[in-house]
Amino acid sequence: MLILPLSYMLFSTLAENLARMEETTKRLELTSIMVDIFKEVSQDQIAHIVYLLQGKVRPDYEGVEVGVAEKIIMHAIAKSSGTSQATIQARYVETGDLGQAASLILEKKSQTTLFAQEVTVDRVYNTILKMAQVGGSRSQDMKIKYISSLLNDASPTEARFILKILLGSMRLGVAENTIMDALAEAYTGDRKNRPLLEEAYNVSSDLGRVAKTTAKDGLGGLESFSITPFSPIRPMLAERIRTEKDALDKMGTGFAAEYKLDGERVQIHVADGRVEVFSRKLERITEYYPDVIEAMPEISKSNNIILEAEAVPVNADTGEFLPFQNIMRRRRKHGLAKAVADYPVLVNFFDVLYVDGQSFLDETYDKRRQMLQYVIKEGGMAHLVPMMRIEAEVDIVEFMESSVNAGCEGLMIKSKDSIYRAGSRGSQWLKLKQDYQKGIGDSLDLVVIGAFHGKGRRAGTYGTLLLATYDSAEDMFLSICKVGSGFKDEDLDTLYQTLGDKILAKKDLRVNSIMEADVWFAPELVIEVVAAEITRSPIHTTGKADNDSGFALRFPRFTGRIRADKSAEEASTVEEILALYGGQAKTT
Ligand code: ATP
Repeated sequence: MLILPLSYMLFSTLAENLARMEETTKRLELTSIMVDIFKEVSQDQIAHIVYLLQGKVRPDYEGVEVGVAEKIIMHAIAKSSGTSQATIQARYVETGDLGQAASLILEKKSQTTLFAQEVTVDRVYNTILKMAQVGGSRSQDMKIKYISSLLNDASPTEARFILKILLGSMRLGVAENTIMDALAEAYTGDRKNRPLLEEAYNVSSDLGRVAKTTAKDGLGGLESFSITPFSPIRPMLAERIRTEKDALDKMGTGFAAEYKLDGERVQIHVADGRVEVFSRKLERITEYYPDVIEAMPEISKSNNIILEAEAVPVNADTGEFLPFQNIMRRRRKHGLAKAVADYPVLVNFFDVLYVDGQSFLDETYDKRRQMLQYVIKEGGMAHLVPMMRIEAEVDIVEFMESSVNAGCEGLMIKSKDSIYRAGSRGSQWLKLKQDYQKGIGDSLDLVVIGAFHGKGRRAGTYGTLLLATYDSAEDMFLSICKVGSGFKDEDLDTLYQTLGDKILAKKDLRVNSIMEADVWFAPELVIEVVAAEITRSPIHTTGKADNDSGFALRFPRFTGRIRADKSAEEASTVEEILALYGGQAKTT
């Protein structure tokens, strides 16, 4: 048997803890299990563990996809257990979980394989990473070989988790914040230090690196984190306001207003002759913008820069803005060139975060805008977002009108002295949308947590969806309404397909709902909804304390927008609902 240095964690230790995590519903317990894991693991392995806890092997922005098709996994189970495909299929149908099926099959198999190699965390991690990187015509065979060699040596519980990671179905319900809580406690002795880890994460988007640095060098080590090309920055976000007057009340005078364009937020990194584009969710989306990549050397005077822009689809013939959804038509592997030609974009720059080796995060809005004006050559697809300095209410009213007339959503209001606060939603940036002035004052982005089977015309799809807000303090999703209107037939089809991958056997640990849905989903998909009113309700859990009522939406309606650019943790929060409810009381 292989003799391992003590510091090397066996995968069985991790798997046992993962099983404990799966069983608990309490966030504190989840955190303390992670603290136990982190305390036991060596500094060299910590990054791997952090990625694996999130079902990843590298940070999202590197675009390393772990997912392996079920078909390949079934072949690998057959190969390592000598069981027929039919039996595996039958076990899969019985359990509804391929990982579980494999675990039952392997339990039957004799456990004592001579010459078995120890299954360490590193072995699992490295095999998964290798698998994610193989390509070419023999990649299927290679993957089957890699997986079956792991399964040969794995215990049933280990196999279950290895396959869950490979299938992308490891849903432990741990958000980044919870992992950071556990890291802070394990390595600095105090969970309250999380904000310091968060700062490093905001500029690196690499939780594995944050973990490794904290483990090795403590809080001092985190000071070495700074903005660098090709590590996306977590975006600064805005607080909503309802009226032009609110902007003046919050900012005084002498602030800047910009058009709020309705497209996809893109972060463009240029350095070493390379250009990469990242989404609002920090995923690498370079391949969908070949036209922008090609144009960048012409657009930017600096070739070592990080910029933010809103990419807006335009009508190829008339040049008019098109609805945001059109940009999603570029999200394809085949026929991309045609989609790019059919759906051209205008790139509207609104911020600059780094230039020629220097961070601009701590520069004021005014300085950053000045640099932006200097560095961007407007023309062709490149524009600066229209901006106006506001001195009085009449200016902002007029500018709002001209923005809406130009086909934009409204205004972004920015304090001229504000620095760029990565990853935070604060009052230095405000957003004023035209629809805030109607209904409850805004559209909401809510998480689909469950569904009810459709009847009549909607049989075979979901008739109604159960939606939730996000509670960041508790890291929970709280129900707020059922929505059944606003869906076109094609929306119902798309949602049925998309949600099919997210079905769970039981309610997710992070979902708090009194209402029982027919089908529960992993809380991942965000959709946009409008409503007539926010009311108090005993059956929904948003804003509910003990025996008090929570909040619900009256007459909610799907707007037709799936917010693929938002993660569930970026959905509308309980605080936002409370603020809208308060605002509603004032205006009605
Ligand atoms: P929404 O749901 O309204 O799109 P959001 O929740 O995605 O907003 P917010 O910070 O609340 O994000 O609103 C800012 C968003 O508006 C940005 O993420 C960006 O995509 C878009 N945007 C459009 N124009 C601008 C601009 N001039 N400055 C900053 N962001 C802009």
